[in-house]
Amino acid sequence: MDFLDVSTILQVSALFNLMAALAWLVLAQSFRIAPRASRLMAAVHLTRLLTQGCTECMAGWPALLRDSLTEFGLLGCLALLLLAVRRMLRSRQRAHDVAWVSGLGALGIAVGLSQPATVIAALSSTAAATVLAALATREVVRCAGSELSRTVGALTTLPFIAMVLMGLAHGAELLTDPGWAARSMASTSPSAARASLWLLITVSTTLSLIALMIWRVVTRIQHLTYRDPLTGALNRRAFEQALESAQAQLQRGHGFALAMIDIDHFKRINDQHGHQAGDAALQHCVRIWQANLREVDRLGRLGGEEFCALLPLAPGSDLSSAAAVAERLRTGLAAQPLRWRGLTMPLSASFGVALPVVGDAQGEIGLVRADAELYRAKTEGRNRVCVATPLGGTP
Ligand code: GH3
Ligand code: MG
Ligand code: MG
Repeated sequence: MDFLDVSTILQVSALFNLMAALAWLVLAQSFRIAPRASRLMAAVHLTRLLTQGCTECMAGWPALLRDSLTEFGLLGCLALLLLAVRRMLRSRQRAHDVAWVSGLGALGIAVGLSQPATVIAALSSTAAATVLAALATREVVRCAGSELSRTVGALTTLPFIAMVLMGLAHGAELLTDPGWAARSMASTSPSAARASLWLLITVSTTLSLIALMIWRVVTRIQHLTYRDPLTGALNRRAFEQALESAQAQLQRGHGFALAMIDIDHFKRINDQHGHQAGDAALQHCVRIWQANLREVDRLGRLGGEEFCALLPLAPGSDLSSAAAVAERLRTGLAAQPLRWRGLTMPLSASFGVALPVVGDAQGEIGLVRADAELYRAKTEGRNRVCVATPLGGTP
């Protein structure tokens, strides 16, 4: 690292942290993009700016103050980063573990700083920071594995893994050479290699968070484009697209069934309790049906209180397995009345199940056949499942 001296690296790092903090604040305040996660990221950069970027200006400060700022700063930075990652990914994870790890780390740092053997403080902050980095890595891996493409996922995860490895290496360094801490504390600035590595990790972690933010914005747009805003089921256009691609798969031997659904006497709910009760009933039905469907099944709201479920069939299964799914949806709804503003409203729905026809690109024939069965279910008394007789030429 002869081409860059430590002072220059620290100045670049300080400038980067300052610019990044401002950028995250603009995203949070002006554009309202992931505001809480962006504010936390701004706090990460400002903490980093105060504790690392300013090592030189801290040179004349009392050692205890300088060391406290460095060790507590590292811990605070990682705790804020983990919280930012969780916010960005809308993780359901509570902050208890962050509080515990940070609390124990802070205690270790305080004990270490109160004694002349400074390795305890450095070891405590490194251990706690490494655990926090590992927790952040787990969150990113979980999201990257299921939501992001392999390359983007790997690139997003890499800086977090590097942070964990760096923490482990630093911990081993402290344990095997306790004199290192005292020497390091006595010096006013880190080595050029260490400062460069930290700058690299800071920049790449920021890029990872930007990637996660873009992913979040894209999923939000997809949700708005493909989902019915009231119930969260697929909207008609998205369902038609899903049906079209299922029809294409049908040509290759992957069977599916269609279950057309219509809530019974829905108009009565609107008439007796108002439109808001009707909306709550629609949300209630979809919640129950989604809970009873598999990940591969698709539920679409075709309009009003009419829905359709696209049910991929496992090899060897036939219409009877789709009828069993429809029966599960029917009994699930019948067993759970809607509780709304102190009222209990029993709900039921009628179902028409049919198989699609090979070569029907838009899947219209399958829909018409399922609709005919739904009509039959209505005329036969509602709250029932009617199943079409399979046609020749269907799987
Ligand atoms: P059936 O058992 O024969 O299906 O009777 P029904 O009352 O369910 O059917 P009908 O087609 O007569 O009434 C459907 C009602 O759904 C009429 C319409 O006002 C209402 N509706 C459609 N979309 C919405 C919506 O988004 N929210 C609410 N609250 N009501 C809706
Ligand atoms: Mg109805
Ligand atoms: Mg209807």
